[in-house]
Amino acid sequence: MSDIIKVLPDHIANQIAAGEVIQRPASVVKELVENSVDAGARSIRVDVYDSGRSLLRISDNGKGMSATDARLSFERHATSKISVAEDLFAITSFGFRGEALASIVAVAQVEMKTKREADKTGTVIEINGSEFIRQEETMCPDGTIITVRNLFFNVPARRKFLKSDNTELSRIIEEFQHVALAYPEISMILTSNDRDIYNLPKHNMRQRIAAIYGKSIEPVIIPVRIDTTVIQIEGFIGKPETASKKNSHNLFFVNRRYFKHPFFYKAIVNAYGNLISQDTRPDFFLYFTIPPSAIDVNIHPTKTEVKFENEQIIVKYITSCVRESLGKNNLMPSIDFDSGSFLDMPPRPKDMPVTMPGIKVDPEFNPFKNDNTINPRSESFGDKLSKLKLQTFQDTESDPGQKNIDLDFSAADEKHIFYQAAGRYIITNHGQGIIYINQQRAHMRILYEDFLQKESSGNTVSEKLLFPETITVDANEFPLLLNILPVLVSMGFDMSEFGKNAFVIHGKPAQIRNFNAADFIAELLDSYKETGFSNEKASAETVSLALAQTSCIKEGKVLTTEEMQYIYTSLFACAQPSFTPTGKSVFFVMTADEIDKKIR
Ligand code: ADP
Ligand code: MG
Repeated sequence: MSDIIKVLPDHIANQIAAGEVIQRPASVVKELVENSVDAGARSIRVDVYDSGRSLLRISDNGKGMSATDARLSFERHATSKISVAEDLFAITSFGFRGEALASIVAVAQVEMKTKREADKTGTVIEINGSEFIRQEETMCPDGTIITVRNLFFNVPARRKFLKSDNTELSRIIEEFQHVALAYPEISMILTSNDRDIYNLPKHNMRQRIAAIYGKSIEPVIIPVRIDTTVIQIEGFIGKPETASKKNSHNLFFVNRRYFKHPFFYKAIVNAYGNLISQDTRPDFFLYFTIPPSAIDVNIHPTKTEVKFENEQIIVKYITSCVRESLGKNNLMPSIDFDSGSFLDMPPRPKDMPVTMPGIKVDPEFNPFKNDNTINPRSESFGDKLSKLKLQTFQDTESDPGQKNIDLDFSAADEKHIFYQAAGRYIITNHGQGIIYINQQRAHMRILYEDFLQKESSGNTVSEKLLFPETITVDANEFPLLLNILPVLVSMGFDMSEFGKNAFVIHGKPAQIRNFNAADFIAELLDSYKETGFSNEKASAETVSLALAQTSCIKEGKVLTTEEMQYIYTSLFACAQPSFTPTGKSVFFVMTADEIDKKIR
């Protein structure tokens, strides 16, 4: 038998490598924008069409390349950024592997025009799926323009694997934001299908944060700074009162590279101590400067973790600079920092009325009040439940055929006495024993099934809001919401686009009583980012979950007997009463036997 091992030809090897570096359009944007930064560009422009599927173009005014370098740059392990092994410990650039361009040309049709300032003419190169097409002299501006067409044209499996347009666009925007926040002195533009998403002039750090996340963040962040021999930390943290449950911005940069670090994150949250409540997170934008030899960036190109040599010490510095800044801020709450000219920039198109995204909330609102019936949703939850309710509440001998509805709960018609304990448990007799029901989780389950059932049966009823509410979201979140808008509408939201990164809500599903649009949208985006919505069913489930989570009664709310009765009855009319949609236990039963064991 002949030998069977072959060395793979370069174009196949590149395509395999590309699978790791280039997973989606956003990876192309990240790699190319980082290259532009590495090339010393002072302005970078990213144009995206069809969320990067059909075309991505990154233009910069960096140092450009010679014709020879241009040709070489597409080879694997071709890099100008390191040459000897020691360089690996002193990386100050984004790139150093020399993989990105080779990977991109392996899976797309690429044209690069590049010119150095000193050269009269530039060069243009075309490569399709690693196949060299042409290189010629050309007239072009100083810098580099790379156009990437039909990403994954030769890897159909990967092309299919891409998420919806809006999801991919959102990821592109996120990558762009990370570089934009790390390099405020670079002017940057991002467009999608010829529409501006960001048009950022040169900024200082604070201005850039505000330009990315909206002017409203500007007054609520305070500067932090600490200078030590180990590390220099600077940036901004959110005032404690603006910490939020879901939509906080938590960004770390080390030597201007975005990274994630759960341990440092924890340190920051801890440093706030009881200035923030346990379930909220503060905003922060922290920029670390540290000798490159003290961190390990030799990580997988698509990962965002960075290893630090002195983690424990850094945690101490983080804690102390956050505390110091919070302390200063308490002493001088009205201090105003350089806000610069961006304050004059309209946050949205001029023709749009300025509406605060704030939402009116009535914390005292009782979802059960103002209803003549005990159950505010007797119609809404279907016959099964309303009949059961009548039976339980009024203890009538109603239609005997309805008596033993198929509940996995045989004691539905026993008499109950309800107690509320610890502000969160409904306690009542259950057969011979006792049941403890977590009120918040139970109500979440009830609402979740109700929303889902309504959606699938097309029975949603929309109710006009007295005052339409405007919600402004981050640029990267906007396409995600657009994605799910049809589902929201089918669930009873009267909601539409309202200019740049904003939506207006005119109506909500009728059965929600205490609706907080901001919380709901934040919750929704959070789940979306975690799971992505693969299909309509998944979307309806996620929306129902977000609705249930934000509109259910909370722990700590004092309940009347009727309300406890309502929850008890409705819960056991659910298909899955035992767990919340997120998998947490809803109740706990202590049987007479177990009680006996304790006290006999
Ligand atoms: P790496 O960034 O890891 O070096 P890349 O494949 O991303 O690898 O790029 C290869 C080389 O091409 C870089 O080292 C750099 O010399 C050159 N290059 C890439 N993009 C640009 C650009 N926009 N301007 C100037 N040179 C560039
Ligand atoms: Mg690179």
